[in-house]
Amino acid sequence: MDKKLKVDPIKEGTVIDHIPANKALQVLSIIKPEEDDVVTVGVNFASRKYGRKDIVKIEGRELSKSDINSIALIAPDANVIIIRDYQVINKYPVQIPRQIEGLARCGNPRCITNNEQMSTRFVAVERNPVRLRCAYCERVFDGDALELVTSA
Ligand SMILES: [Zn+2]
Repeated sequence: MDKKLKVDPIKEGTVIDHIPANKALQVLSIIKPEEDDVVTVGVNFASRKYGRKDIVKIEGRELSKSDINSIALIAPDANVIIIRDYQVINKYPVQIPRQIEGLARCGNPRCITNNEQMSTRFVAVERNPVRLRCAYCERVFDGDALELVTSA
């Protein structure tokens, strides 16, 4: 068990630790928990490494790497902890996928993706801090400078 995990233990599920402070809700908007998922959000925990951090717990569901890696866009230092029967069975840092589709808006107002009904696509050019290149207009952006696409 990880003794540094200060949130209440859960029996089964996924814990996402080391989310930058006040970014937990954006993380959830990317993960899109299912309706019956029990989600706990911890905001502004003290962290020796980062000052303040958020934590998200999703009980009863083990998220896969492909479900979760896109959160690296806003939480590049996040750690994912998979728990079964109160034991940590897997723990890994998120890693920005090589391509991110439909998740963030391009910051270039003249980009075709901001002028046509189409999905955006970015290619990761740096992992931490995250830098992404728009596959359409070729501009490069900091991951945290991009506005997330929110599905209503
Ligand atoms: Zn673009």
